[in-house]
Amino acid sequence: MKLKQKLMTYLCAGAVLATGVIGGHLAENAVKKGAESVAASASAVVERPTVVLDAGHGGADGGCVSVDGVPEKGINLSIMLTTRDILSLLGYNVVCTRETDVSIHDAGIEGLRRQKISDMDNRLAVINGSGALLAVSIHQNQFTDPQYHGAQMFYRADSDESLRLAETLKERFRNHLQPENERETKPVGDELFLIHNAQCPAVMAECGFLSNPEEAAKLESMSYQREVGFVIADGILKFLTEQ
Ligand SMILES: [Zn+2]
Repeated sequence: MKLKQKLMTYLCAGAVLATGVIGGHLAENAVKKGAESVAASASAVVERPTVVLDAGHGGADGGCVSVDGVPEKGINLSIMLTTRDILSLLGYNVVCTRETDVSIHDAGIEGLRRQKISDMDNRLAVINGSGALLAVSIHQNQFTDPQYHGAQMFYRADSDESLRLAETLKERFRNHLQPENERETKPVGDELFLIHNAQCPAVMAECGFLSNPEEAAKLESMSYQREVGFVIADGILKFLTEQ
């Protein structure tokens, strides 16, 4: 499909969703007025599809740290917020596990390790309680050898749809940002708690390597974070509109 056609497909899908949202507001007003005939149209309003976005780490848990000393948690959040804004604008119901620099562990839990377990339990509860069509967890990578770079996707091993989501995201990274990216899309089991236990197609997107000086510098810049956020939104839209 040509780029323009693809864009039209996405925009049309967005317009349908946006119409549903506007229809929702109109229907709500009609119900308030008690106009029976118009209120009946409320039942025709299409429920907005839900997607979950998870910005990895947060609060005391910074995640991995770049060669410049920048923790991944803020990079993950910034990317996620762009993806959230694009999808929200198109009418999707976007549920985020966090939208600020916090851990979402239960109140009163002491100790980093126990807080981390509670935080992960609560993130999973957000995903599985949302009725979402998919979940994407956004992270950054790190390795001892600084030469490695490029985005890499990890998907739930027992889910064909998770694989399709992962391949779609990877293809979008290649298309928009990293044409030479040959990183293998990898299946994961229970070593990745959130992805393994999600009840919807779920992918962890490692957007790049903070151990690579060039890629770290890019990932630390707001403009590149926005580009990556767009790529993830584009991948999600492609996955949802081309099934
Ligand atoms: Zn991480």
